[in-house]
Amino acid sequence: MLSVYSFKEGLKESKLLGCVCSECDNMMLPPRMICNKCGSTTLTEHCFDGKGVIKTMTVVRVPLTRFQELSPYMVGIIKLDEGPMITGMILGEIDEVKIGDRVEAVYLDEGEGKVLAFKTV
Ligand SMILES: [Zn+2]
Repeated sequence: MLSVYSFKEGLKESKLLGCVCSECDNMMLPPRMICNKCGSTTLTEHCFDGKGVIKTMTVVRVPLTRFQELSPYMVGIIKLDEGPMITGMILGEIDEVKIGDRVEAVYLDEGEGKVLAFKTV
């Protein structure tokens, strides 16, 4: 069964796991139980390629404890080429990364799991 849980499991394997609606082809990330466009429950797993564009971003100067050593770092909303938008950390020099830059997903080790981040390409 697809859920936000499967998204986290996907990250562990360096996969961006979402789903696609069999009725209306709507793509969702993270995966949902019900299509957020047409309400269908006929959804199939879909692995996103993780390429997209920075839509908006901000610099985090007061980080979560677990990201202390990365501080300051950037967080942004990425519009994937395949449609959905997703939030993630953005790697790179703060003065060099800007809205509109092309990025691709990278997966940072964090304990037993992985954190989704993006780097400019
Ligand atoms: Zn649908």
